[in-house]
Amino acid sequence: MKIHEYQGKEILRQFGVPVPRGYAAFTVQEAVEAAQKLGGPVWVVKAQIHAGGRGKGGGVKIAKTVDDVKTMAGQILGMQLKTHQTGPAGQKVRRLLIEEGADIKKEYYVAAVTDRATQRVAIMASSEGGMDIEEVAQASPEKIIKVFVDPATGLTDAQGDELARGIGVPAGSLALAVDVFKKLYRCYVETDASLAEINPLVLEGSKDGKAGNIKALDAKFNFDANAMFRHPEIVAYRDLDEEDPAEIEASKFDLAYIQLDGNIGCLVNGAGLAMATMDTIKLFGGEPANFLDVGGGATAEKVTEAFKIMLKNPNVKAIL
Ligand code: ADP
Ligand code: MG
Repeated sequence: MKIHEYQGKEILRQFGVPVPRGYAAFTVQEAVEAAQKLGGPVWVVKAQIHAGGRGKGGGVKIAKTVDDVKTMAGQILGMQLKTHQTGPAGQKVRRLLIEEGADIKKEYYVAAVTDRATQRVAIMASSEGGMDIEEVAQASPEKIIKVFVDPATGLTDAQGDELARGIGVPAGSLALAVDVFKKLYRCYVETDASLAEINPLVLEGSKDGKAGNIKALDAKFNFDANAMFRHPEIVAYRDLDEEDPAEIEASKFDLAYIQLDGNIGCLVNGAGLAMATMDTIKLFGGEPANFLDVGGGATAEKVTEAFKIMLKNPNVKAIL
């Protein structure tokens, strides 16, 4: 399950990770009120959709006056935002985050994920944070540092230090960065996340000779759907506008359904067999229209619903 950036920042804030002050807005009027509450001198108007790459797609804009906030909010709300993560149709923007502008000295990347090979949570960090991290991972993977956390100890000071030094955090801000990494790890574990990514994590300019602050300017979370029964507070963040209607319908009947681009519907009992069936279709030059696992012991009612959902897809020409 995914959530919006502003919701992710609420969670980070609860775990003590510094984030900019900000408010969600559903209308231009609310955006203006949010800007007035925050006070200037700089605001950032940010499209809230369940996909990254918003900056490059024109969904993140810097405003210097409340009037700018108003204009930009009007432009972004309702737009069909296309990013490398939305697919070609893009996603309609229905919510904004209006937040204070940060004085960015340096953008880093940090994320927590589960590493299946070591069966541990990996914390990954890079000096090359910001909007091009995918390219960094491709072209210079050595710029991404990883540590694997022993669940009995949690992220240790030594590991936090290795990450912070490894990405070049200046000496005066090292302790702040280590603190953020430890809190991110705790947050990941305690919320049953499957991804907790801060990109960019920034070093702010220093004031009055003090070390620059470390702050999370973006927040991206995925949660383990199988653990959501114990997190009603996270389920409350669910935004059905961001989900595929067929997949929502399927989840009501406890069917694992993922819509795809092909024209051969597949109805299978068991996820492994469903994957193998899709592979077989591909092997013979076909394209599956969906992944669908009706599960073992599916009832007549479940199978009926499964057919209805598959047949709603106008591309389906046949069902296997
Ligand atoms: P996305 O990853 O979807 O493009 P981000 O939230 O990472 O969206 O924003 C893109 C870029 O916009 C960031 O890398 C950062 O440079 C800038 N940015 C985002 N939020 C702020 C902020 N509060 N203050 C200043 N710059 C920001
Ligand atoms: Mg980002």
